[in-house]
Amino acid sequence: MARYTGPNCKMCRREGCKLYLKGERCTNGKCAFDHRSTAPGQHGAARKKVGEYGKQLREKQKARRYYGVLEGQFKHYYELAEKQEGITGANLLILLERRLDNVVYRMGMAASRKEARQLVLHAHFTLNGKKVTIPSLLVKAGDVIAVKETSKESVKIKALCDGLATAVTPKWLENDAANHLTKVVSLPAREDIDFEFEEQLIVELYSK
Ligand code: SF4
Repeated sequence: MARYTGPNCKMCRREGCKLYLKGERCTNGKCAFDHRSTAPGQHGAARKKVGEYGKQLREKQKARRYYGVLEGQFKHYYELAEKQEGITGANLLILLERRLDNVVYRMGMAASRKEARQLVLHAHFTLNGKKVTIPSLLVKAGDVIAVKETSKESVKIKALCDGLATAVTPKWLENDAANHLTKVVSLPAREDIDFEFEEQLIVELYSK
C-alpha cells in the first residue's frame, strides 16, 4: 500500500501552517514550524507572488496532507463528493473526516493520523464487532469502533486507551471509555471540522 514517507515538518512549512502530523512534538515546543515557518528549500524565505492556481493547488495539498491521503485517493474523494447532494467542497471534507484512521485519531487513541493509520493496519480495532484493517474505510452513523479484545492485553494499547477517557471528541462521536469503544452518533457536519480550509479553492482547482 503506497504512502508518503518523506519528512512531515517540511509539509507544514510548505503549506504555511501547522498540520499536526507528528503528535506530541507538534505541541510540546519542539515544532519545526514554530522555529522556522518559511517554505523549505534554498529560496524558501524569498517572497513569492502566488497566483489563483497556486492558491488552489496549495489548498488541495493542505487538505490532502492534513488527512494523509495520496493524490489518486484524494481525487477519488472529490469525485464522490461531486456526485453527492449539497456543496461539493463541504462533502469532500466530510468524506475525509469519515475515514476510519481519522476517527481513531479523533477518539483520542492516537497522537496523529499517521499513528491511527498504523493502529488500524495492525488490526487493533473492530467495526460493528468485525475485525477491520482498512484505514480508508468510511464510517457511517450508528457504527461502533471498539478496541479488539486481544489488543486490550497489550501494554501499549492499554496506555492508548487512556485517551478514550480524556479526549475531547467532536459531537458526532461518543466515547465509552469503560467499554473501550466509540460510537458514531451522526455523520460529521462541515462546522464540526475545526481546521481552517477554503474548500471552495479545491473545487475551483478540480473544475478547470
Ligand atoms: Fe508540523 Fe507537527 Fe512538524 Fe510542527 S512538529 S512542523 S505541526 S508536523
